Amino acid sequence: MNRENREFWLLVGSQELYGAAVLETVARRAQEMAAYISASGCVPRRLVFKGVVRSDADAVRFCREASFDERCCGVVAWCHTFSPGKMWINGLSLLQKPYCHFATQYHREIPNDGIDMDFMNLNQAAHGDRELGYTEARLRLARKVIFGHWQDAEPLRALGRWMRAALGWAESRTLRVMRFGDNMREVAVTEGDKVETQRKLGWQVNTWAVGDLAEELRAVSDAETAALTEEYLDAYTLATEDRESVACQAREELAIRRMLDREGCTAFSDTFQDLHGLPQLPGLAAQHLMALGYGFGGEGDWKTAALLRVVGAMCEGMGGGSGFMEDYTYHLAGERSCVLGSHMLEVSPALAAGRPEIRTHPLGIGRNSSDPARLVFEGKPGPCTLTSLVDMGGRLRLIVQEAEAIRPILPMPNLPVARVMWRPLPDLAGGVPMWIMAGGSHHTVFSYDADAALLESWADMMDIEFVRIGRGTEPAALKKELMLGDLLWKLR
Ligand code: MN
Repeated sequence: MNRENREFWLLVGSQELYGAAVLETVARRAQEMAAYISASGCVPRRLVFKGVVRSDADAVRFCREASFDERCCGVVAWCHTFSPGKMWINGLSLLQKPYCHFATQYHREIPNDGIDMDFMNLNQAAHGDRELGYTEARLRLARKVIFGHWQDAEPLRALGRWMRAALGWAESRTLRVMRFGDNMREVAVTEGDKVETQRKLGWQVNTWAVGDLAEELRAVSDAETAALTEEYLDAYTLATEDRESVACQAREELAIRRMLDREGCTAFSDTFQDLHGLPQLPGLAAQHLMALGYGFGGEGDWKTAALLRVVGAMCEGMGGGSGFMEDYTYHLAGERSCVLGSHMLEVSPALAAGRPEIRTHPLGIGRNSSDPARLVFEGKPGPCTLTSLVDMGGRLRLIVQEAEAIRPILPMPNLPVARVMWRPLPDLAGGVPMWIMAGGSHHTVFSYDADAALLESWADMMDIEFVRIGRGTEPAALKKELMLGDLLWKLR
C-alpha cells in the first residue's frame, strides 16, 4: 500500500424526491466543496467527492466501496437537503472505515431577499443533518461531529485533525512490530494481550531471535557501514574519539533496518537483557531509526514502539517531532519544578533543540562489550503531549498527559544521555498524581505534534478507553471517570 494514495471520501445526503435539477446542483456544489477543502492547506490528504446518497441502495454501495477500497481512510458525510435516516441504516451498518459527520452548509448567510421555498428546499442542512445525526446515534456509530462553514479555517482544521487520526487508524490496521527479545524481566506495564491488541488495533506483534539479528550483523559490509557513518556525521557533531563504537552502531542499524524492511515491520523493540551476539545495546542506531520514522520501545515495550509509529503516521509533515520517552526524575524547586525525561540511550533526535552530539560512555546495564555511541542533546520547548497505552485486563486504555516542554534549566554536564524537561498540566502537583492514578506508564510517546483531541479521535476510532490529563482536569472528576470507565468497559 502506497501511503501517498491515502484519501478521504465525501458523501452528501439527499433523496430522489427533490428531482433531477436539485440533485444536479447538490452534486456540483459537493464537488466544489471537496476541491476547496482538499486545496485549503488545512487537511493532510485530499477529500474526494464520491456521490450523492439518494436511496438505501446508494448508501449501501458507497459504504461497501469505502470499506473495501484501500485508498479510502475514512468517510465524511453531510446532508445538503433532507435525507431520510432509514435510507442510511443498511449502508452505515456495513461501514468499516472511520466516519465523520461534517455539519456544514453550502451558503454562509441567509440571503434576505433570496430566501423563498425553492431556496429552503435546496438548503436544509440544519434539518437533514439532525436526521442523519439521530440515525448515527441510534446505530451507536463511532463518529466525530464537526460544525462550521466549509470555507472557514477552524472547522477545516478540525477536519484535518480527524483525518490525521484516521491516517493513524489506517497505519494501525497494517502495522507490524518486530520484537528482539521479550519484555524486561518482572516489569508489568510493558506487558499486554497481543491477541486483544491485534483485534482492537490491528497491530501484528511477533518476535525474532536476537541471534538472527547477530547473524544479519555479520552480513553488513564495511562499505555500507562507512556510508551510514558518513550520514551520521553530516547530521550530528562527533564528540568522541571512539569511531569504532559509532561504526558498530551503524552496523547494528543497517542489520535492524534490513530485517524490519524484509518483514514489512515499521516498529521494533529490544532489551538490554538480551544482547546475545550484539556488541552493544542499539543506542545511536535506535535513535537514528526513530528519526527515519520507525517506531521504537525499549525493554521490550512493543506497545510504545507501535504507538510511536502510529503517532508518526498521524503527524507526518507537521514538523514538531515525536519520540520514545521515559519519566526519570523530578526537579522540585517551587516555580522551577519540572520533570526530567530521558532513557538509558534511546531518545529520538526528532525532539532536539539543536544539533545533537555523538558521544560514547560506558553503559553498565546489559552485556555491552564496548561503550555504546549515543546522541546527546536538549529537548525543544513548547506545548507537548505524553501518551501511554496500558492493558487494563480485558481492555486497552490510552492516557494522554498534556504538558509544556521547557529548555532544560540545568546543564547536567555529567548526564551522558539526551534530556527533555517538561511541566505537566494542569500543574506538576496535580498532573503527577492523576497520571499515577490512571495507571500511566513510565514509557510514553512524547510528541510536539499530536494534541489530546487528535489522540482522542484515534482512540474513538480504535474503540479503546481514552483518558486525558491536562488543563482543567480535576482529580475528583478523574477518579469518578476511571471508576465509571471500569464499569462501562466491562459491559461492552
Ligand atoms: Mn525504559
